[in-house]
Amino acid sequence: MKKLYIETYGCQMNFADSEVVASVLVSQSYLPVSHADEADLILINTCSIRDNAEKRVLARTRELQSLKKQNKNLKIGIIGCMAERMQQELFKKLEGVDLLAGPDSYRNLPQLLAQLDAEERVSDILLSTSETYEDIDPLRFQSNYISAFVSIMRGCNNFCTYCVVPYTRGRERSRPLESILKETLDLQKAGYKEITFLGQNVNSYNYTDEKGKQWRFPDLLAHIAEQIPEMRVRYATSHPKDISEELIDVMAKYSNICNSLHLPIQSGSTVVLEKMNRKYTREDYLKKVEMIKRKIPDMAISTDIIAGFCGETEEDHQMTLSAMKEVDYYYAFMFKYSERPGTLAEKSFDDDIEDDIKGRRLQEIIELQQSLSLEHNKRDLGKTFEVLVEGFSKKSELQLFGRTPQNKVVVFDRGEAKPSEFVKVIIEDCTAATLMGRLV
Ligand code: SF4
Repeated sequence: MKKLYIETYGCQMNFADSEVVASVLVSQSYLPVSHADEADLILINTCSIRDNAEKRVLARTRELQSLKKQNKNLKIGIIGCMAERMQQELFKKLEGVDLLAGPDSYRNLPQLLAQLDAEERVSDILLSTSETYEDIDPLRFQSNYISAFVSIMRGCNNFCTYCVVPYTRGRERSRPLESILKETLDLQKAGYKEITFLGQNVNSYNYTDEKGKQWRFPDLLAHIAEQIPEMRVRYATSHPKDISEELIDVMAKYSNICNSLHLPIQSGSTVVLEKMNRKYTREDYLKKVEMIKRKIPDMAISTDIIAGFCGETEEDHQMTLSAMKEVDYYYAFMFKYSERPGTLAEKSFDDDIEDDIKGRRLQEIIELQQSLSLEHNKRDLGKTFEVLVEGFSKKSELQLFGRTPQNKVVVFDRGEAKPSEFVKVIIEDCTAATLMGRLV
């Protein structure tokens, strides 16, 4: 059996894709290994969302190429968004790379590898309008066997001006409900306690079954939540323009759907949101948040924020800070704007905000979020939460960690508890990042 090593960068979708890749290749007698120097085939699943992400992969691949000195038959492949965005340019930059495969080409990996016996280098970067890998059972080779990702759709049609995803992952397509349900029930049988539905924009889920019944995301969520009452259900990522009252009502109705929502705002200024082509205004977004909190008061909302987008004024930046306070996020992914080749923003706008101004604004956003997260956690002091135990704390084998339904990490003395159990924990202390508690 040939040995396969997969290294994954980027979003949860990429981690789910690596499990599909592992499944395709294990069916061709590859054996997954956890160290690159043992491998006959190394695949690096890549991210193109920011320039730094690509630079990291280029540096890492140059490192891995040196393994070819000790293993002449070693093959190295770049897969995922960088393969799709950079294509042949990658072969020029990295002489040790033998194979390129885009996010829709994983089913074709065995053929590409067979071609490599005859050819020096091979690539498949064709995007598909239908591929969802619906019949491939992901191989959970990097799992904790407690919580699993289940991808429900691929691609994105939103074309936010700063984003490469529509170019690297293609047009939206939804996976058949039957295939999602089968994977979920298999995970339940295998003892998993939590699933996270994945998609670039899960709210766009739209599937019509053989009987002609249309399934939108709220329908899918309700249907699955009903089938697996013992399992927790989470999902990411939502586009604010598609958040509906119907969806929040479904979340309120099923106690196994967790009260945490990732709702990227990107900017708090309507002027900037228009330039980003986000299709909602500041007011639209805040009105949706008001509706969500009215229906589910303990909903924990997280977000994504870009600092220093093209033309962003100091006033726009202040609008972002005030929106953060108004929504009161428990967590945020925060980045400086990174111009991406081929995007609408690159073609239409100047990347005109000086890097030190981008850096200062990002620092202000991070500091504000730190204080919001700490206050958010302080409000949990004295409350008792149901926690799904995910494992042992990094700091001590005597402590376990897990998450509340609000997706907050809790650390506590283990007592009689074990990983994959649901336990009750009372919160006694906190930092901005972690809750500390005691089993009750
Ligand atoms: S919704 Fe916008 S930011 Fe998100 S993946 Fe699609 S284009 Fe990119």
